[in-house]
Amino acid sequence: MTKAAAEPLPDLWDDANVAGLDEPGLLLYRSNLLGSDLRITNFGGGNTSAKLAMTDPLTKKPVTVLWVKGSGGDLGSMRRDGFATLYLDKLESLKGLYRGIAHEDEMVTLFNHCTFDLNPRATSIDTALHGFVPHVHVDHVHADAVIAIAACSNAEQLTREVFGGALGFLPWQRPGFDLGLKLGDMASRHPEYVGVVLGGHGLFTWGETSKAAYQTTLRIIQQAADWLAANEKQPAFGGARVEPAPREKRRAVAAVLMPLIRGKISRDERKVGHFTDAPAVLEFVNSHALETLAPLGTSCPDHFLRTKIRPLVIPYDPDRDNVDAVADSLEALLAAYRDDYSAYYQRCKRPNSPDMRDPNAVIYLVPGIGMLSFAKDGRQDRLRHRWCRRHWRRDGVAAIGRRRLRRARRHRPGSARPADRSDRAEIQPRQRGRHQARRDR
Ligand SMILES: [Zn+2]
Repeated sequence: MTKAAAEPLPDLWDDANVAGLDEPGLLLYRSNLLGSDLRITNFGGGNTSAKLAMTDPLTKKPVTVLWVKGSGGDLGSMRRDGFATLYLDKLESLKGLYRGIAHEDEMVTLFNHCTFDLNPRATSIDTALHGFVPHVHVDHVHADAVIAIAACSNAEQLTREVFGGALGFLPWQRPGFDLGLKLGDMASRHPEYVGVVLGGHGLFTWGETSKAAYQTTLRIIQQAADWLAANEKQPAFGGARVEPAPREKRRAVAAVLMPLIRGKISRDERKVGHFTDAPAVLEFVNSHALETLAPLGTSCPDHFLRTKIRPLVIPYDPDRDNVDAVADSLEALLAAYRDDYSAYYQRCKRPNSPDMRDPNAVIYLVPGIGMLSFAKDGRQDRLRHRWCRRHWRRDGVAAIGRRRLRRARRHRPGSARPADRSDRAEIQPRQRGRHQARRDR
């Protein structure tokens, strides 16, 4: 049987568009291109860098400066002032001050002492990962196809199988100074590598020019997508357990449940909601695997920041149309979810953890009907909603491997990356490329 090929990622680099751009301009151009397609990286995720020859403003001597996307913002819409700039030799000198992984967070403060040209842009936690890779242009993205591989328990073996010897592999570790050292060391010892897969996280790739880095990033993601398409197991999620309700019925049930849930979870803050019965959502909520996969939560730390660790499955049965019984049980269901979330927070919190967020579920899955999502405002809700749809699309193809089932106890609120926390506060409407617009319809 011939398998469907993955949809190609178009190479959008246009030499005519970049004529006359300086190196930081080329870096920005590349960053915006990468961020314009959500298959390449998620909103607010990923970062890019270049190690560029500049003139020191005081000594007028040539220096090498690391331009690296700073904390917050989004690759697709960032501007030149979104880059932090650091003297590369000063950043290297921090290796001599490093006291070990228990103290790696103190290194972030020291990045400020490496600032070039008084640039006020805050550095992100990924700065060391870019700075210590001995290649000029470095991309880090959270590509769907690569994460589908990186989130499998046999990710290292799959990385070898899919990419041959072109990419290295590092197991999951919270991004920071220590992971930067490991990545730099691996890249130095393996000049044949064009990048490294970070387990449970994403992809690092590099090149000697901006255009080469961009095209390598695209090529590697395409290779992953093609391999997944060729090895996809059907049906996804164990096949359908229930048939979707007719379209009118789906809307009618959603119209009953939405205001009920919204009323019960809006006591402390106002909420807006969103309903979808898109095919990818129905495929998951109607599947045999819903009951086992949903409580296990998301497969990638980037997701649970937006969606909470797990969705709440609403026990609606389309065959019995038990919407009244569901409505009666909502209060208890919501309370049980809040208790579970509070217990998770107490279990995992560290002294520097942020306060507990609203403990209500934000994603509600209704068999036969679709998905409801809620957030403080419509912008966040749209993002949340889009994240879930992408997650399932990805995990649908990830059924090829033994999916790593991250347990809630392994997610620590204090381990959320500072870059992600700040990203949450800076969610902006995305400049959507034509491919994304098509995919979201
Ligand atoms: Zn990342």
